[in-house]
Amino acid sequence: MKKEIEDAIRGFVGTSSSNRMKDSDERYFAEPIIGYADIHDPLFAEYKSIIGDFHLTPVEFLEAEYGALCPQNGTVICWILPVSMGIRRSNKKGKKVPSSEWSHMRCFGEVFNDALRKYVVALLNSRGHRTISPVLTAQWKRIVSPDIGHASTWSERHAAYAAGLGTFSLSDGLITRKGIAHRAGSVITGLVLEPTARPYQGPYDYCLKYNANACGACIKRCPAGAITENGHNKEICSQYMREVISPKVNDKYGVTISGCGLCQTKVPCERRIPAIKAEGEKIRG
Ligand code: SF4
Ligand code: SF4
Repeated sequence: MKKEIEDAIRGFVGTSSSNRMKDSDERYFAEPIIGYADIHDPLFAEYKSIIGDFHLTPVEFLEAEYGALCPQNGTVICWILPVSMGIRRSNKKGKKVPSSEWSHMRCFGEVFNDALRKYVVALLNSRGHRTISPVLTAQWKRIVSPDIGHASTWSERHAAYAAGLGTFSLSDGLITRKGIAHRAGSVITGLVLEPTARPYQGPYDYCLKYNANACGACIKRCPAGAITENGHNKEICSQYMREVISPKVNDKYGVTISGCGLCQTKVPCERRIPAIKAEGEKIRG
């Protein structure tokens, strides 16, 4: 069944017309990577203390949707959609605001990601497996927490970490084997599948700042000063997007949300897990 699911996801990404830039043949996203976590993985309970009590477990999402018919076991299926090379390249040139291509990916690429979520939900339900996409349910809400600021009741990056797809970064992204410039997606299903082994020990293993006290390229890339040696300040980041980027580019680019992503491009983790270099060797973005 894994092969069928992966072929279906890759096929949808490869052929869907909604994964195309509006005025060119360029795709928003290249071939995805896919991972699996057990719905009972203890990490999901731990997220309540790491993120907040408001963050729901896969079981809580299933119970809210299905009540007494809730599956007892199951899987969280996660995917990473790497931003295509042309879009990443365009954003490398940005210093204060994102490129038009990046903003289109953030706005319309996420519409495609929603279509992919619905497609996977429909596929698994048609096979008799109760399945939902948490971000498309009534239980998914944005939260502003006094402890961690902007958050939500389901983090697809944290789900992807549990599913062996990557580790967190100084800039608050998820560094995967296809890099940090991506969008994530997930569904929760009653279908039981073998979980993906996590090829890392800790939550920051792939970030050079944490594992080698090197790099810090994302600090220099951020025009808002939202990233420091101590990490990413979500409030400064959101404020910059709200008060500087959106007024400058939304109308010009024809988008309702523009994103930013300057800290995800022209950095060593942009398209791969960055390698620790020998002393004196240059780290390239
Ligand atoms: S640019 Fe460097 S410090 Fe920043 S997230 Fe990537 S690897 Fe970590
Ligand atoms: S931290 Fe926020 S404002 Fe700074 S580069 Fe990244 S997305 Fe842009």
